[in-house]
Amino acid sequence: MYLVNFLSGRQARINVNDLIGDWIKSERGTSAGTVLGALLFLSYVQDTPRCIRPKFADDLVGSTVAKDLATVQTMLQTALDELSAWSDTWEMTLNTSKTKVMLFGSSSGTVNLTLHGEAVEQVDCIKYLGVWLDKNLTFLQQAEYAVSKATKAAWKVNRLIEGRKGLTPKTGTVLYKCLIRPCWEFSIAAWANLPEKGIRLLEQVQARCLRTIMGTKSHAATDAIEVIANVMPVRLRIQQLCTLEYTRLKQKPQDSHLQLLLKQALVPESSFTPMRFLCYQAKRIHDMFDHMEIVPEHKIEAEEILSDGRIDYIDIFRGNDACKTPALHDQVAAFITRHRYESLLAFTDGAVNDFGRGSSAVVMLPLESGTPEIEVKRVHTTLISSLEAEIAALVLAMEQAIIYFEDSAVKSKAKQGQLIILSDCKSAIKCILRRSVMHHHHELMARIRSSVRELRDWNIRVVLAWIPSHSDILFNEKADFLARQALQELPTVSKTPFTFPTWKSLTVRQMTQCWQIRWDRSTTGRATYDVMQAVGNRLTFPQNRNVAISYVRLLLNDTTLREHQYRMGLADTKICDNNDGIEDAYHFFFQCSRYSDIRTELKQEIQSIWTDSGRNGSLRWSVALLLAPSTVTAFTKLQSRAVLAATFKFIQQSGRFL
Ligand SMILES: [Zn+2]
Repeated sequence: MYLVNFLSGRQARINVNDLIGDWIKSERGTSAGTVLGALLFLSYVQDTPRCIRPKFADDLVGSTVAKDLATVQTMLQTALDELSAWSDTWEMTLNTSKTKVMLFGSSSGTVNLTLHGEAVEQVDCIKYLGVWLDKNLTFLQQAEYAVSKATKAAWKVNRLIEGRKGLTPKTGTVLYKCLIRPCWEFSIAAWANLPEKGIRLLEQVQARCLRTIMGTKSHAATDAIEVIANVMPVRLRIQQLCTLEYTRLKQKPQDSHLQLLLKQALVPESSFTPMRFLCYQAKRIHDMFDHMEIVPEHKIEAEEILSDGRIDYIDIFRGNDACKTPALHDQVAAFITRHRYESLLAFTDGAVNDFGRGSSAVVMLPLESGTPEIEVKRVHTTLISSLEAEIAALVLAMEQAIIYFEDSAVKSKAKQGQLIILSDCKSAIKCILRRSVMHHHHELMARIRSSVRELRDWNIRVVLAWIPSHSDILFNEKADFLARQALQELPTVSKTPFTFPTWKSLTVRQMTQCWQIRWDRSTTGRATYDVMQAVGNRLTFPQNRNVAISYVRLLLNDTTLREHQYRMGLADTKICDNNDGIEDAYHFFFQCSRYSDIRTELKQEIQSIWTDSGRNGSLRWSVALLLAPSTVTAFTKLQSRAVLAATFKFIQQSGRFL
C-alpha cells in the first residue's frame, strides 16, 4: 500500500529561469532523487531477458562474440527482439534513436539491426557509463574527453585567481584534487591501458593546473611542483587507483562475473585487455605482500543496521571558545575531574608501524578512589590500518569495561551509569557513531554491538568523546605510550586475510615510496630537492597569495631575484640593485642591506624558537632553515610552523614580488 501511494498521483513540471511549465502527469516511472525510486526501478527491470548484460539502471547492453559477422547479427537481433518484446509487455518504450550498435575488434563491416521496424544506427565509438569506448579499446578518445572536462573545471578554479591575488596554493590544491582531478580519474581503472600519448595528455593537464594554482613560472619543473603541492604524479596515481580497483574486485565472491573476468585475464595466452592491465598494475604491490588474501566483501544485513545498541557522543568543548591548545587541555582536565568516580573513564589509542603492524591500548580509571588505573594493550596479529587500530582500541575499552563491571560490587558505584571513552581519533568515533563504513569494519562493529548490548543490560550507557592528541593529557599520553610499547614486541603477523582499508593504506604508503624513489632519481627540480627531500608532506603556505607565490618560487629557486633572472637571460647582471653583492636567495634573506631592519626581527624570532626548543649549540643560518625548517633541524611541528611564519612575515615586509 505504501508503494502504491508512493507511485501514484505523481506530477512534474519544469522550471527554467522562473519560467514554469505545465504540470505533466507521471503515469509510469518513479521519482528521481528518491532512494525508493531507484530501488523500485531496479526491481522493475530485474527480469529483462538473460541476453541483456551488462545492465546499469536504464543503460541496457547486449553483447555477442562470434567469428563471423552473420552470427553476430543474428544473435544481436534475437537479443534485441527479446528485449523489445519484454519492453512491450511491461510498457517500457525503448528509445530507438538512443539505441546504437558497435563492432569491436579489427574486423569491419555492417551490422543491420532493427528495432520497432527502424534501423539501429551503427557507430565507431560510444559513450557508455561516462567512458568513451573505441573500436580497439585504445581509450585515446576517452583521454581527450577527460582532459577537456578537466580543462573546463580548471577554468572555473582559475577564475578565482588573478595573478598574485586570489586563491592560496593550499585551497587551490584542494580544489584541484576534488574538482579537477576527478574529471580524468573517473573510472580510470577501466581504461588505464591507454597509450603513452594519452598519459602525456593527462600529465600535461595536471602540470598546467598546478602551475597556475602555485603561481610558478611556466618552465618550472613539474616534478618539483608536484612535491611542493603534494599531488602525486599522474602515472603513480593511475597505478594506485588500479591497485585499489584490483583489490576491490578481489573482494567479490569467487563466482561473481568480475572475478571470472579477472581469472580469464590472468591466463597467460589471453589477449591484453584492460582487465589484464589492471592485474599487471597491481602485481607489484600484491607480490610485495606475499599474496596475502583480502577479507571478502561484507553484505550488510538488516539486523546490523537496525541494531538498537545506542552509543552517545559528548562534546567536551561545546560552548567554549576552542582553538588554543592550553585551553583545550584545561577543559579536558576539568571534564575528567567532573566525571571521575562517577562514570567509568577510558582513554584509548592505536598505533601502526610502517609495515602495517598495529596495536591498541586502553587506560581505564576505576570508580574506586585510590585504585591504580587499569592498563591494557593488544598487538594485532593481522596487518591493520591506523583507523582500524583506533577502532579496535575503542572496542577493547568496551570489552574491558564489561570485565570490570562483571564484579557486581562495582556496578552499583557507577552513579551516572556511564562508560565514557575518550579517543583522539575523530574518524574512529565517526565510524562508530554513523556506522557509515560498517561493511569495511564489520567484525569490529559486531563486537561493538554485542558489548553495548551487554552494558545496556546493566543500565550502562556508552558515551564517546573526542580529545586532542599530544596535548599533554596525562592518560591519553599513557595510552599512546602503551600502544607504542606494545608495537615494540614485534608480533609475528599471521596469514589471516586483511581488510580493504588496510590494503588501501598499505597501497598508498607503497605508492608514496615509489614517488620518493622517482623524486630521488629525478634530474629536474634539484634545487628544490636540496631543501625538500621527502615527498608526501603537506606544506604550510602563507594565507596571502602574493607571499605564497614568492615562497613557492623560492622553493623552486626560480624567482625574480637578479641571480635567477640573469640565469634565465632576463637580466643583464646578477648584482643586486643595491650594489652589495650577487642577489640570490641567501643575499635576500641574510645580506642585502635594504632589509637590515626586518632581518633583525626575523633572526630574533627564530633564535627564540631555537632557544625554546632546548637544543644545544648555536643556530646555523641557511635558506633551507627558513624555507623548510622541518627538514633541517629537529623542530617540532609547532616550532617549524613558527619559523615559517617568521619567514613569511619577512617576505611580506620586504615588499618584494619574488
Ligand atoms: Zn642587496
